[in-house]
Amino acid sequence: MQSQKTSTPTPDQIRRAPKVLLHDHLDGGLRPGTIVDLARAIGYAGLPESDPDKLGTWFREAADSGSLERYLETFAHTCAVMQTREALVRVAAECAEDLAADGVVYAEIRYAPEQHLEAGLTLEEVVEAVNEGFREGERRAREDGNRIRVGALLTAMRHAARSLEIAELANRYRELGVVGFDIAGAEAGFPPTRHLDAFEYLKRENNHFTIHAGEAFGLPSIWQALQWCGADRLGHGVRIIDDIQVAEDGAVKLGPLASYVRDKRIPLEMCPTSNLQTAAAPSYAEHPIGLLRRLHFRVTVNTDNRLMSGTSMSREFDHLVEAFEYSLDDLQWFTVNAMKSAFIPFDERLAMINDVIKPGYAELKAEWLFQQAVVTPALASGSAAARG
Ligand SMILES: [Zn+2]
Repeated sequence: MQSQKTSTPTPDQIRRAPKVLLHDHLDGGLRPGTIVDLARAIGYAGLPESDPDKLGTWFREAADSGSLERYLETFAHTCAVMQTREALVRVAAECAEDLAADGVVYAEIRYAPEQHLEAGLTLEEVVEAVNEGFREGERRAREDGNRIRVGALLTAMRHAARSLEIAELANRYRELGVVGFDIAGAEAGFPPTRHLDAFEYLKRENNHFTIHAGEAFGLPSIWQALQWCGADRLGHGVRIIDDIQVAEDGAVKLGPLASYVRDKRIPLEMCPTSNLQTAAAPSYAEHPIGLLRRLHFRVTVNTDNRLMSGTSMSREFDHLVEAFEYSLDDLQWFTVNAMKSAFIPFDERLAMINDVIKPGYAELKAEWLFQQAVVTPALASGSAAARG
């Protein structure tokens, strides 16, 4: 008899499983139809396609193309239509709704307020509009029978000089929908130490932050993010693999930075599909997440940009299940890791783990028991013959 522990979860079970998402960009997750609607409403003529299906395909292909210009162009379009209060409320509400429909029960969604000021909104108005959208999306999800909580992370751009201002903004809206801070953008040439004043400010305020590090750029970026900036989590962090040696006989040796990351339980916000598109990993099967999970790093699974990667939390799990034959226990492990690493208070994280995530997986793990209870015709006729 095959137990759920050894069997592969079905796509339907994966979709129904409670999931936690820590790394997802608001401007990377719009519905194609919404982009078309918003562009029409504001008279934005820059879209490469006006049909939602074709536009969705264009976004995925541009992100797949290997061209940085085309990849950046995708965000120019999404940001262009996210400049008004109404647009931000709608995009944020749909984000929460889409995640809830995919079985996500807790999400931290990040965005850079400074990229939504072109039509005259203030930084505060941007934050309040996005918060309003998340609350609206949570409400609509509840009406559909789904449960989700969404917190915002405010991102500052690595190449810009507004990080302290954005960190102060994140601190002002703490407990008002914003749960932390992030730095994003091109790693090469823009080390996180450029923004030390922002990180030091947040530490003095006892606030939380994550840093995009170790995606395209190697160990120095991870080392700076942790040891100079004091990041609570690493956005991606895949290059930590460069500090791990695997010998021919399978023996593993961790370098000092990899040891530190594992010993201190530093959460790694891994985004497999996104990494394939930016060539940070060659395939799902060769993605460092396989080794890092085996070595018990604090690995979490994330979507990064659902529109550009044509992905969802369920699809990321589908790919990993296919590549590594993960069971529901493995998926629960990733999910609990993510919930432990969230920026909301400890008691709320614990309640999410014990009262939502574990019961959800327990229910899925028990399904095989009831499937086995069906009497097969062969057995029934065999026993009838034996009685006769
Ligand atoms: Zn990211």
